[in-house]
Amino acid sequence: MKPAPFDYVAPRSLDEVLEVLAERPDDAKVLAGGQSLIPLLNFRLAQPTLLVDVNRLPGLDGVAVASDGELRLGALARQGRLERDPHVAERAPLLAAALPHVAHPQIRNRGTLGGSLAHADPAAELPAVALALDARLRLARRGGERWVAARDFFRGLFATALEPGELLVEVALPPPPPRSGFAFLEVARRHGDYALAGVAAAVTLDERGVCRRARLVLLAVGDAPVDAGVAAAALAGGPLDVERIAEAARHAAESEIDPVGDIHASADFKRHLIRVLAARALAAARLRAEAA
Ligand SMILES: Cc1cc2nc3c(=O)[nH]c(=O)nc-3n(C[C@H](O)[C@H](O)[C@H](O)COP(=O)(O)OP(=O)(O)OC[C@H]3O[C@@H](n4cnc5c(N)ncnc54)[C@H](O)[C@@H]3O)c2cc1C
Repeated sequence: MKPAPFDYVAPRSLDEVLEVLAERPDDAKVLAGGQSLIPLLNFRLAQPTLLVDVNRLPGLDGVAVASDGELRLGALARQGRLERDPHVAERAPLLAAALPHVAHPQIRNRGTLGGSLAHADPAAELPAVALALDARLRLARRGGERWVAARDFFRGLFATALEPGELLVEVALPPPPPRSGFAFLEVARRHGDYALAGVAAAVTLDERGVCRRARLVLLAVGDAPVDAGVAAAALAGGPLDVERIAEAARHAAESEIDPVGDIHASADFKRHLIRVLAARALAAARLRAEAA
């Protein structure tokens, strides 16, 4: 298939992009890496009448560490670049661990962080990571901007808090607390395929090795990334031993998701995967927190 006809603009400044988006909020689409949007256009699943190519915008692809230790990532940063960035490896090891699971190197060399978050595929890795890391997202529009927490950003199947006319411009990740460990695990039929199920885990220990805080976010088992908050909260205040981890994983798989089976995996198989992956990810995160 070929796309339906559309107009095309490639502004060279953020103000210009926001102006164009404000003028045609309902029929314009932002084109970033194009790795999701172009297939949608070709299948005519999306038929915007205007494409606003943001690839020529300067300054929105940076990686910086703010004075408070927050990692600031430009929304236009390519996934492949982030995968190789030393600041990301040091300050956001969960993101670094997840990135190699996103498609293939050729796709990551074009695909952007912001494009993945804005697209909000429930099987995508980066939305789950943003949620697990309590990311904040900066959304700009003509005449203003706002910050939205990741937990408020993902609204459902391919749905986010982005309003017509808004552009995601930056993602902020808080610095990991001391004695924190992270793990990302997923099962896909072939490496680079979308996951059948996946897990992002983060734990923080106190000086005695007791769990202070745990996060467990699940992908490909709901309309959006699922925060298994009850299972994770039950881990706080005790040791991260095998029994407690197994119980948290069981609770997440049995009580915090309602997966829909498809031709690739039944609902039962997805539950099974979550139970196994969650236990493994929490155990791996604990080991890394102990070594931190
Ligand atoms: C063969 C193949 C396999 C893939 N496998 C995976 C996978 O395993 N896991 C995975 O997560 N992804 C996968 N993808 C998708 C890929 O990761 C995309 O790069 C990503 O989803 C979208 O990023 P993009 O920059 O290409 O965005 P685009 O395709 O340009 O845009 C996607 C959507 O987001 C909007 N958008 C983009 N940037 C912004 C912004 N800054 N502000 C507001 N809206 C914006 C666009 O308007 C569009 O609606 C795969 C893609 C292909 C082709």
